[in-house]
Amino acid sequence: MSRYWSAVVHGLTPYVPGEQPKLPNLVKLNTNENPYGPSPRALEAMRGEVGENLRLYPDPSADRLRQAVADFYGVTPQQVFVGNGSDEVLAHTFQALLKHEAPLLFPDISYSFYPVYCGLYGIEYQTVALSDKFEIRVDDYFRPNGGIIFPNPNAPTGMALPLADIERLLESNKDSVVVVDEAYVDFGAESAVALVDRYPQLLVIHTLSKSRSLAGLRVGYAIGHPDLIEALIRVKDSFNSYPLDRCAIAGAAAAIEDRAYFESTCARVIATRARLVNELEALGLEVLSSAANFVFARHARRDGAELTARLRERSIIVRHFKSPSRIAPFMRITVGTDGQCDALLHALGEILRG
Ligand SMILES: *Cc1c(COP(=O)(O)O)cnc(C)c1O
Repeated sequence: MSRYWSAVVHGLTPYVPGEQPKLPNLVKLNTNENPYGPSPRALEAMRGEVGENLRLYPDPSADRLRQAVADFYGVTPQQVFVGNGSDEVLAHTFQALLKHEAPLLFPDISYSFYPVYCGLYGIEYQTVALSDKFEIRVDDYFRPNGGIIFPNPNAPTGMALPLADIERLLESNKDSVVVVDEAYVDFGAESAVALVDRYPQLLVIHTLSKSRSLAGLRVGYAIGHPDLIEALIRVKDSFNSYPLDRCAIAGAAAAIEDRAYFESTCARVIATRARLVNELEALGLEVLSSAANFVFARHARRDGAELTARLRERSIIVRHFKSPSRIAPFMRITVGTDGQCDALLHALGEILRG
């Protein structure tokens, strides 16, 4: 069969997403989904799209959604690009803005899709080690590069970089694009969107999968200088003119417009996170400081893979990363409802005592 494959396919190392098990009664804390569900206004807007109009193609530039995003952040629609999940926005960004002669830089512990896109698009990269406290040190990025990308808060550590550090990086890195992947920013970090008007090399990428609880809808967006956005549009229009369907455009715009629902559900996640951190520490785990809707925690004497497997026997699914070895002791635990977190803490307590 593989004799029919293109040469490039033989060389690919695809991303492995967190599993979506089909078992009933799972406490699913492995893929950072939001436990509270989408805004009721978003659901209503999507229902309104299901009808005769689906005969027609959607708006290829999704202007209604771009306007909603622009209004939310106080930017212009020309500074906004939207795509089918931020993974697609990231893919276009790698191809449009990060493929140069000098290597792309990103942290050694980071979103594991980045090296996958480099493989797909043939982009040279170098990883930059986090500090021994798992922090991004921006000074380590002051070297020749074809672009810089990192999540803020970082994944899977959950740790946030202050905006002042990002600004320092932008001040000393004007000849290549700096991408800040803010998938989790709404849970407690400072957004770099505040800097896009001053730094034309800055691109900020967001998703509706986490803080807007729409992982199933597949919508993400980028905010940056219109020249960067134009590059993304050129790639998109060479790939798929209609990445967002009618339901996605309407639902995503309504979700962005429902600020009150967004703020209250983020606040609930943040409150539960504080309690989860305290109780994990009471069980003897070390928890990295998290500004995300997940925590990264390890036990001094118990292996992360083993604890993950023992939780799984009790129908509680968390995420474990085998590599790099520095993070093998950790579990990444999504902040669920209070009830889900209680189930996790109860099970973990039993496993650790047993
Ligand atoms: C979840 C996540 C994404 C992808 O989000 P989608 O919009 O669901 O594709 C991108 N970057 C990071 C760091 C993430 O954790």
